[in-house]
Amino acid sequence: MKNDNAKRPLGVLAALPQELGDLVDAMRAEGAMRTVTLGRRDYHTGTVHGVPCVVTLARIGKVAAAASASALIHAFGVGNIVFTGVAGGLGRQVRVGDIVVADAFMQHDLDASPLFPRYEVPLLGRPRFPADTALADGLAAACEQFVADDGMELEEQFHLDGVRVHRGMIISGDRFVSSADEVRALAQALPDALAVEMEGAALAQVCYEHDVPCAVVRTISDTADDHAHASFTSFLTDIAGTYSSGILRRFLEAYAAV
Ligand code: SAH
Repeated sequence: MKNDNAKRPLGVLAALPQELGDLVDAMRAEGAMRTVTLGRRDYHTGTVHGVPCVVTLARIGKVAAAASASALIHAFGVGNIVFTGVAGGLGRQVRVGDIVVADAFMQHDLDASPLFPRYEVPLLGRPRFPADTALADGLAAACEQFVADDGMELEEQFHLDGVRVHRGMIISGDRFVSSADEVRALAQALPDALAVEMEGAALAQVCYEHDVPCAVVRTISDTADDHAHASFTSFLTDIAGTYSSGILRRFLEAYAAV
């Protein structure tokens, strides 16, 4: 899962505090933690489960994610970046409580047509950005391990209908998607997409521009339909932290060991 960039600290990002789980507490417990405030964000530097990390909350949306990723790269010198959080599931097979690990990203709300093809990032000449395969493999392995260890308990405790791990495209835009009509339109336009959220593709673009490997893991909090808001809110409050803590611990322990 490691590359040469792993000699530098690992950047860990989420949009909202619940999505970081116990990561900052774990860093504090593991030794000296230094906090630097930059651009109205706190960057926590220290070691988590044996891995030197810089952890921050991006807040919501593509600009927030891009700004945080830039700071992680330029001000903190991270070598790899991992983003954890929740997302809306797209497609019948992706249900609340499932996990999606991205292998690629697109901005579903980007449209500079007719000057550039729909979805293409102007002047970069591409609509789609990859996740780093090795990092995504590491996240997927951590998810599988988390589900094998804790899946039954999660299903029981949170009344989930099984927990599956998916791998595929995640799409991002500056909109909380919360209607069946919009889900249908997105599925028609971008049939490969497994989940919709508001940050991943922005992170992936910045990382592509700077040759910094990145990967994203998203737990499905809602299915982006008319019930999305209620489902998102209760999932975020009750469950998101359990997933993030469980997945990140396994990911970081394996990352430290290689
Ligand atoms: N209405 C919400 C807004 C939160 S935005 C509120 O009351 O707070 C949702 C956050 O979770 C974003 O960071 C995004 O990345 C992710 N997300 C989860 N479900 C989503 C969906 N259906 N559409 C877009 N983003 C979603």
